[in-house]
Amino acid sequence: MAFQAPIAEIAFTLKAIAGLQPAMEAGLFGDLGAETVDAILAEAGRFASEDLAPLNRVGDKIGAKLADGKVTTAPGWRDVYRRWADAGWNGLAAPEAWGGQGLPTLLNTAVNELWNSGAASFAAGPMLTAGAIEALDAHASRELKEKYLPKLVSGEWMATMNLTEPQAGSDLAAIRSRAERAGDGTYRIFGQKIFITYGEHDLTDNIIHMVLAKLPDAPPGTGGISLFLVPKFIPKADGSAGERNDVVCAGIEHKLGLHGSPTCTMIFGDKGSGAVGWLVGEEHRGLAAMFTMMNLARLTVGIQGIGVAARAFDQALAYAHERRQGRAPGAAKGEMSPIVRHPDVQRDLLRMKALTAAARAIAYSCAFAIDLSHRGPAAERARWADRASLLTPIAKAFSTDIGIEVASLGIQVHGGTGYIEETGAAQYLRDARIFAIYEGTNGIQAIDLVTRKLRLADGAAVQSLIDELSAIATEAAQSNRVDLGATGAHLTAAIARLGETTEWLTTALAQDRLTEALAGATPYLRLFGLTAGGTLLAKGALRAAADGAEGQDFAAMARFFAETVIDESAALAATVTGGSEALRLAVPTLYRDGGVAVG
Ligand SMILES: Cc1cc2nc3c(=O)[nH]c(=O)nc-3n(C[C@H](O)[C@H](O)[C@H](O)COP(=O)(O)OP(=O)(O)OC[C@H]3O[C@@H](n4cnc5c(N)ncnc54)[C@H](O)[C@@H]3O)c2cc1C
Repeated sequence: MAFQAPIAEIAFTLKAIAGLQPAMEAGLFGDLGAETVDAILAEAGRFASEDLAPLNRVGDKIGAKLADGKVTTAPGWRDVYRRWADAGWNGLAAPEAWGGQGLPTLLNTAVNELWNSGAASFAAGPMLTAGAIEALDAHASRELKEKYLPKLVSGEWMATMNLTEPQAGSDLAAIRSRAERAGDGTYRIFGQKIFITYGEHDLTDNIIHMVLAKLPDAPPGTGGISLFLVPKFIPKADGSAGERNDVVCAGIEHKLGLHGSPTCTMIFGDKGSGAVGWLVGEEHRGLAAMFTMMNLARLTVGIQGIGVAARAFDQALAYAHERRQGRAPGAAKGEMSPIVRHPDVQRDLLRMKALTAAARAIAYSCAFAIDLSHRGPAAERARWADRASLLTPIAKAFSTDIGIEVASLGIQVHGGTGYIEETGAAQYLRDARIFAIYEGTNGIQAIDLVTRKLRLADGAAVQSLIDELSAIATEAAQSNRVDLGATGAHLTAAIARLGETTEWLTTALAQDRLTEALAGATPYLRLFGLTAGGTLLAKGALRAAADGAEGQDFAAMARFFAETVIDESAALAATVTGGSEALRLAVPTLYRDGGVAVG
């Protein structure tokens, strides 16, 4: 069954929920207009369905292969990458100064969703190149920018992100890769990195590694990490790829999913004199520079979850129309009904659709906030930057969690057939599982939300978002629209819980009750995602013309979400505020030596 990209839903979420339409009307995005947006989405949807979607299966079955230090991508991938890059997709949101089109991150985020629906393993590579472009543009010297950015923006070269080492995953302070000053302005890099996405491949002639390493006089901790650019081939004066650098791929992982994306062990400086690298930003300030690329990458990983969820839903829906079993309520005697007629299957399908739509609304709102932090009225930029920071962990973790849930429900809708690899339904679940782990595990995202993001602007960032959500809930309640049912009341209750748990966590942190606050972080993030996502769906319903197709669809989704999903926030709120004592008492059962005291 060919993948049908949900273009109308995506376009509506962009324009009416995230805020693209009013921002375009206010001239914040130059002469970008609705027609151009629609044309870009239509063409991206076509490319995702016709060119990328067929790659997904071959990427999964054959995957990337390593032989003699060279990684070969699955058949067809090189050709599609070339056509994708030649069409200009890689530079859609990149700066015009370096050959990009300078379009909003928001629009690029929507297009990214489509690439991920098409083939998530394919989209993983350009995702990291986009992060490197952003980090270089913000922190690199003029010389590095001129040498590398045009080729990275055009897609002629790709980039990677080298953070993880065997002993340093979530805890980057533990990295051991080292850098030495060469005395000529360059550096020599030594060390091993693991799990590096697209660390080696045959899609481009050169690969530009962004590598974290420590100088000999580095202060301890994350304050001592520097960021280096290490090209696979050192560019010649004319810019073409020249001498081979001392960086090699020593192995690729055999993993649960995402087989089309090579996950590489990279060795720097194995020959003895070190891989030649160039400093990006200042010495010992590499993590700050890397965070420029990690924040965008976190949002984009959230988008991976949404893209795969949308694809899983599309396939499950098509299957549910084809597969006939049992007699649905109201069906003629003797009829074998399509399973889409069974209320239990309908609930699964609608939950898939509603969770995906809610996560999309959050992620696009985060992308919009990133755009306005650069292009909004000067006096409002700091506020938008805080909004983007606040939404980033939610956009990453909520979207990737629902990606797994939706893919799993997709298998359920297929029944036993879904568990069999031939349908492809199982691949979505296998692929989606990693999204909750890389780019900062979802647990780390929840901790970031609670310990750092709630404090933004002394709490004003979270409060202003809660106030906006409340205003939407009130508008829904006061609209008295029959099609919205009890949406307003359910939203109001959920937002009250969000406010109370936020207050509880803020107080716990202020009173140094860190264990209690950390124990509640993951359920709090989920509560936040459900509440914000459900409310944004209602915003969509309210902003659409009630008689238009999108308006009806969003009203139905908003009501379904509010009346059947959002009340899960009550249990989550109770877990946040009341669960830490139970956790503390149960912890000793985790220790075979009889338990430890927990503070
Ligand atoms: C397919 C794949 C692709 C990847 N691509 C890249 C890449 O391109 N570049 C790159 O640098 N890395 C990459 N990674 C690595 C990835 O980012 C790490 O796996 C991830 O950051 C988690 O680190 P870890 O695996 O060491 O787990 P750990 O850090 O050991 O975490 C294990 C568990 O402990 C929890 N935990 C750890 N610390 C804390 C804490 N302080 N508080 C609470 N809980 C904690 C985590 O949430 C997790 O549940 C990739 C990994 C995979 C599998």
